[in-house]
Amino acid sequence: LRIMEAENASLHQNNGDDEEDEKEDRATQSLLNKLIRSNLVNNTNQVEVLQRDPNSPLYSVKTFEELRLKPQLLKGVYEMGFNRPSKIQENALPMMLAEPPQNLIAQSQSGTGKTAAFVLAMLSHVDPACKWSQCLCISPTYELALQTGKVIEQMGKFYPEVTLAYAVRGHRMERGVRIKDQIVIGTPGTVLDWCIKLKLIDPKKIKVFVLDEADVMIATQGHQDQSIRIQRMLPKGCQMLLFSATFEDSVWKFAERVVPDPNIIKLKREEETLDTIKQYYVLCNSKEDKFNALCNIYGAITIAQAMIFCHTRKMANWLAGQMSKEGHQVALLSGEMVVEQRAAVIERFRDGKEKVLITTNVCARGIDVEQVSVVINFDLPLDKDSNPDNETYLHRIGRTGRFGKRGLAINMVDSQRSMEILKTYERHFDKKIARLDTDDLDEIE
Ligand code: ADP
Repeated sequence: LRIMEAENASLHQNNGDDEEDEKEDRATQSLLNKLIRSNLVNNTNQVEVLQRDPNSPLYSVKTFEELRLKPQLLKGVYEMGFNRPSKIQENALPMMLAEPPQNLIAQSQSGTGKTAAFVLAMLSHVDPACKWSQCLCISPTYELALQTGKVIEQMGKFYPEVTLAYAVRGHRMERGVRIKDQIVIGTPGTVLDWCIKLKLIDPKKIKVFVLDEADVMIATQGHQDQSIRIQRMLPKGCQMLLFSATFEDSVWKFAERVVPDPNIIKLKREEETLDTIKQYYVLCNSKEDKFNALCNIYGAITIAQAMIFCHTRKMANWLAGQMSKEGHQVALLSGEMVVEQRAAVIERFRDGKEKVLITTNVCARGIDVEQVSVVINFDLPLDKDSNPDNETYLHRIGRTGRFGKRGLAINMVDSQRSMEILKTYERHFDKKIARLDTDDLDEIE
């Protein structure tokens, strides 16, 4: 009995750890996306707009000029290489810059221009002559706050009268001396301290409040309550803006508590599809066998760039070693790396410096490397209970957009169980996964 209890305890422990991983992962993923993102993501969907007052005219802009920005901000925007507003910015910017200020909840996947939008709104609303904090932005983590801070600094490059303070851990401040920076960006706990304990900010003087990455925020214990405590200290006329990449019910409930009388803007994620992907499976007996199959495939077809997914770090390491021995230039994305290292690996791969990227699920979730034409599931994707994971399968090999990019996906099957899993993918997506004989590879070329 005692053993069983111990086992249960450790099982429980494990589950807890997984959840922790999952939470840490959202913030890390989001940071990784920011580090590797240099352009807007393509999205062909229509923006949905829900106005608080359905009778007021709906403004959208096609140029930054129409917004009548301060010249020093317009210059900053152009210097960043922006020619015209992104889809979400077309609608969000007029709302955010309207007089009187309007509240906004906006949801769209990362890379669609949300950060740039609210940074521009904050910079437009500050009065540079007033030497106190007027805009407050909260982010889920220290690193994410720094990234947003960089955008504020870049866009405000020609507006030096406006300054920025980082309310993040490790920033020692003297109690009771109000800061003069018009914009404050930070994490909820430190921002609360700055408002209440240290009295560096007078929350009653805040004109614009931004809550960024709401979905990541609520995944962290305590952040939701802290955010709401901050929001409650703000004056009635303060503009409230909330952004999220995803919109689960929990985010929605949270958003409604933080943002009264909101306008709502949504841009649906572009659907991924398997329509342009040829899917195959290869029967193998062992990991060595899988590796041989992989070498045969490599010998037979010209592969520009491939991504290979393994289930564990250990397997990914092993495979990277084997492939290197064969003379392949491989990049390895591993959970042991800090996020900046991961971003560097992805960047090198994107630049074509390596032709193969080997990775595990955790590392590659949410990143898209568009030029990859071949994806190999060295291990089939599984969820944390070892069941089929349709979403991950689709995300690994699927393609977005109707641009007709063709792709090839090869699944390594090494047991009865993995065959069953493969069949569930086949059924779920209603797309044939054909058997591939790696000794006779004519068919795929
Ligand atoms: P999100 O906050 O939705 O993740 P960002 O605001 O960070 O999106 O924008 C994603 C990328 O696109 C960034 O590299 C940013 O500099 C760039 N970007 C944002 N707005 C525009 C625009 N109007 N034109 C061109 N690039 C833009």
